[in-house]
Amino acid sequence: MPPVTPPVPASSLAPTDPRHVLQTVFGYAAFRGAQEDIVDHVNAGGDALVLMPTGGGKSLCYQVPAIARHRAGKGVTIVVSPLIALMHDQVGALEELGVHAAFLNSTLEFADVQRIEREMTSGRLVMLYVAPERLTTPRMLAQLDSLNERGLLSLFAIDEAHCVSQWGHDFREDYLALSVLHERYAHVPRIALTATADSHTRADILERLDLGDARVFIASFDRPNIRYRIVEKDEPRRQLLRFVRDEHEGEAGVVYCATRKKVEETAAWLVAEGIDALPYHAGLEAALRQKHQDRFLREDGIVMVATVAFGMGIDKPDVRFVAHLDLPKNIEGYYQETGRAGRDGEPAEAWMAYGLADVVNNRRQIDESPAGEEFKRVQRGKLDALLALAEATDCRRVRLLGYFGEASHPCGNCDNCLDPPATWDGTEAARKLLSCIYRFAQHGRGPRAFGAGHLIDVLRGKKTDKVAQYGHDALSTFGIGAELSETQWRAVLRQLVALGHVVAEGEYNTLALTDGARAVLKGGVEIRLREQHETPRRAKTARAKAGREAPADLDAAAQARFAALKAWRTEVAREHNLPSYIVFSNATLAEMARLAPDTLAALGEVSGVGAKKLEAYGREILRVLEAAA
Ligand code: ADP
Ligand code: ZN
Repeated sequence: MPPVTPPVPASSLAPTDPRHVLQTVFGYAAFRGAQEDIVDHVNAGGDALVLMPTGGGKSLCYQVPAIARHRAGKGVTIVVSPLIALMHDQVGALEELGVHAAFLNSTLEFADVQRIEREMTSGRLVMLYVAPERLTTPRMLAQLDSLNERGLLSLFAIDEAHCVSQWGHDFREDYLALSVLHERYAHVPRIALTATADSHTRADILERLDLGDARVFIASFDRPNIRYRIVEKDEPRRQLLRFVRDEHEGEAGVVYCATRKKVEETAAWLVAEGIDALPYHAGLEAALRQKHQDRFLREDGIVMVATVAFGMGIDKPDVRFVAHLDLPKNIEGYYQETGRAGRDGEPAEAWMAYGLADVVNNRRQIDESPAGEEFKRVQRGKLDALLALAEATDCRRVRLLGYFGEASHPCGNCDNCLDPPATWDGTEAARKLLSCIYRFAQHGRGPRAFGAGHLIDVLRGKKTDKVAQYGHDALSTFGIGAELSETQWRAVLRQLVALGHVVAEGEYNTLALTDGARAVLKGGVEIRLREQHETPRRAKTARAKAGREAPADLDAAAQARFAALKAWRTEVAREHNLPSYIVFSNATLAEMARLAPDTLAALGEVSGVGAKKLEAYGREILRVLEAAA
């Protein structure tokens, strides 16, 4: 995303101006997209709801006003965040920038709690991160009251605001209690932020947080650097291994699986295949989970195999791929999970393997859930949209953005745009398949319903034992589909289940027709299918081979400087017990390596180098650059 505002030199701006804060504290030349409007609105005391995709730059939207307002004497900003595990790094990043910040959570000693509370009540603290359950305790509220009475309660920032909604997938009871903020501190501005944007959730956030008068900022949800690919499941593990090994060797990524068991198995298998993989799910002991998360954040090139329990708030910028081995629940989930790739704006991939069993499982989960009919109806609608995305033969991005209400053009950076799939008319085949299911039900011998395997055997005219046992070779549909391969038949069936014309029932996933099947049988519905083609083994890209250790556009001397800077960064990160990207991002190191500045002033021009970091590290960096020359 290119900056849109031309930089104004910080020297001509007041220190309380958000642009001054952006340039001197963060070292960025300009705001991105909607950031500037949001920041100005909140800085002036307005309420806001911000919907921005992951990686869009939400943090700056509240951090810049927090700093500007603190400089203007307005006091402390309270940041509500659901993930205490990440507060340490978030606060560490701010302290690195020279911003006085702290967090309060259950991991602290009482003496530390008291010290931080003193920093807060004195108004010295710029930002305090707290979990919602802590914020609404009597102790905390009393302290906020006192701040408020003295005009030192500056702003509330509510991160991951979708947690307040029961429609979303991350509902947290504690978020409901946040309505107290508006009741109790009506004049303190609030900014709520989320990357989940469907209209249900949006309405819920506005209502439950009492943000009726807030300005709503909806940024474009496009993540142009992410390439979307959805492949048909064939041998999912092997497909995954090929994807990871051939295209993302040595790179950090996340592999999502539906169950804990599958997480464990997949991680173990990848490790056996020589991939640096770790498991993560809610069933692991807390300490181990934390350890795996820390390793993922701090080390290079770890593949995290996880359930959806992993990810919210993970702001590691250089995740190069997100893979799904199972279908997520809906497009919101898919988009949020895949959005964890490529926050740094560099090329990244979202890859998913999808098959008949996924469709069957997800449909069944909804059917068998104890939820009310209305809820199920909404969930079914959401699943349908996701299945349509998976089966799509046109641009995936146009569909994704369309789901979030955004119009766009074919992107040129998804599988369907890059390699348009051939399609074939499956209408006739669909009718044959449906009539075969219908014949089973009519036939006198044996059970009246069968699973996919037997159905396809009958259509293809295979004389199996089961066929003989039930006399199915006497059916009028026996052998009427010999012209199609088993894979093609599976695709037809998957499409019919996806469209809701066929359901799989019971322990054995036996197939039955729905009312919708009638229209297809009568020939009133056209079924278009993707041509199955075995994905050719792609040649390793130059980038994959290089393991992305260094940006491709650096010459040899710059590569050497980049490597030296990285080694230096690793040392600093270890000393400060922080992930290395918090010290400096790869993009910032690459720019240093490219420009090879030899004065502090020139180094300060590099994007991502603010005043505090220049002061703390400037001389060392110049030395590292000189030594690497
Ligand atoms: P989000 O919370 O929306 O997922 P972040 O706030 O983590 O996104 O921002 C994503 C990345 O973009 C971070 O590395 C951040 O430093 C960077 N970034 C955000 N705004 C700007 C900007 N105006 N200029 C340069 N980099 C930015
Ligand atoms: Zn596309």
